[in-house]
Amino acid sequence: MSINQGGWRPTMGESDGNTDMPTYTGNRALMLEEPLIFERGSVNVTGVDIEEAPKVRSRLGGLERNRDIGLPGLSEPETVRHYTRLSRQNYAIDLGLFPLGSCTMKHNPRLNERVARMPGFADVHPLQPVDTVQGALGVINELAVWLIKLTGMYGVAMSPKAGAHGELCGVLCIKAALEKRGETDRKVLLVPESAHGTNPATAAFAGFKVEDIPATPEGRVDLAALKARLGPDVAGVMITNPNTCGLFEPEMKAISDAVHAAGGYVYCDGANFNAIVGRVRPGDLGIDAMHINLHKTFSTPHGGGGPGSGPVVLSEALAPFGPLPFTERYADGHITLVEEETVGDRHPDSFGRMTAFHGQMGMFTRALTYILSHGADGLRQVAEDSVLNANYILRSLEDVLDAPFAETGPCMHEAIFSDAGLAEGFSTIDIAKALIDEGFHPMTMYFPLVVHGAMLIEPTETESKGTLDQFIGALRSVAQRAKAGDQALKSAPHFAPRRRLDETLAARKPVLAWKEPSQAEAAE
Ligand SMILES: *Cc1c(COP(=O)(O)O)cnc(C)c1O
Repeated sequence: MSINQGGWRPTMGESDGNTDMPTYTGNRALMLEEPLIFERGSVNVTGVDIEEAPKVRSRLGGLERNRDIGLPGLSEPETVRHYTRLSRQNYAIDLGLFPLGSCTMKHNPRLNERVARMPGFADVHPLQPVDTVQGALGVINELAVWLIKLTGMYGVAMSPKAGAHGELCGVLCIKAALEKRGETDRKVLLVPESAHGTNPATAAFAGFKVEDIPATPEGRVDLAALKARLGPDVAGVMITNPNTCGLFEPEMKAISDAVHAAGGYVYCDGANFNAIVGRVRPGDLGIDAMHINLHKTFSTPHGGGGPGSGPVVLSEALAPFGPLPFTERYADGHITLVEEETVGDRHPDSFGRMTAFHGQMGMFTRALTYILSHGADGLRQVAEDSVLNANYILRSLEDVLDAPFAETGPCMHEAIFSDAGLAEGFSTIDIAKALIDEGFHPMTMYFPLVVHGAMLIEPTETESKGTLDQFIGALRSVAQRAKAGDQALKSAPHFAPRRRLDETLAARKPVLAWKEPSQAEAAE
């Protein structure tokens, strides 16, 4: 069977006729077109010579595959080119500023990569006997100690593999603690309106009922409304600090005290820890559990560049309920991985296990390298510079873009704008798409929900003033055009490999599997 080999038609983005001069290949100089791998390859071709498999008697009953698997075969150079061409249509932190708010897209220091690739770390296997991996366990243990120190907390669960996974870990600790107290009637978790979508999702997934806490007009948690809702049915709160409006919650200690007095626990979404690392210890604010996105604050690659890692620091009240496995260092320096609930007085209350092994080893290595290479003064400067950079953007653009909390005072590590004041019919998406033409990844759009047409911009500390000035200049120009009603903005991006996509259709009716064109046409 031959699949469309050589017959693919490059689409150059729906040309608007004037700037796009079609080429034979569909390539535009160094911007290379690339079809899907199914269109590029053929099931009749394979990149490797494999001998015919010996005939064996099948023990699969009637379950053998009875037709070709249909995977496109490609040679090694074709495969390499396919993925390399696709990668060049992508944006990356190594190409430029990535102002995605809440995501902390900072530079990934090459030193981290060098350490993570050392064979002693890169080649260990999670099932190796613990005596042969004492160095790797030492890294996990040392990172754990630093995370506890930096947050002023009591313990830490290292195994969660992302921020949202860490939220689940923390909320399951809360659940286990309530069960131990015999207070399973506490079914409600209070979550501010401005929370990241993962917070209510986590609470619901763990079996809690989610209730909103309103925000004040200044973009902060309404303490009076929160206090009024506390009671015997409330398990606790999930609060992001600094919050998703880019503001510090100065009443965090009062919030924690009130929740504790009412018998609940305080979960803090620590995704924005970058703004306060080295300056504020969440433990001093009465927090019981907080995840730390190592891939945000501690610079491990993410967003297509690598997996996440979401250790959860825990208060003395919640630490006994933390998940397995965890490292334990004995007085003689030997480190072990505690894998099971032990009977008697040691770890009987752990809620169980979240992952097969100990967590993301490669991320631990990078994060520890980052922490040790920065030191106490360096980490403090990370927080200060990230906040300075965000305020520079806020103050440089508040004359052309509506900044809803500009009156509240300085922001933390992200600046927020709204679409108020743009020309009729123009919205945040038009600004985001025009930024693509300017060579920048767009900012976070329409989040948090408490701000209409929100644009959340997080530059991080790793951008120079020169880069920030260039970004500010680009955004200023785009904003002025959106205010003047420049229609060209409505069809941006003009210079990207693809033009504006129907994102609603893509979300509502995603096409998740490739079909042969003949089949696809027949299905229509
Ligand atoms: C990134 C983020 C999360 C989720 O973290 P993941 O590692 O992506 O799962 C949760 N809350 C906030 C505020 C975030 O920015």
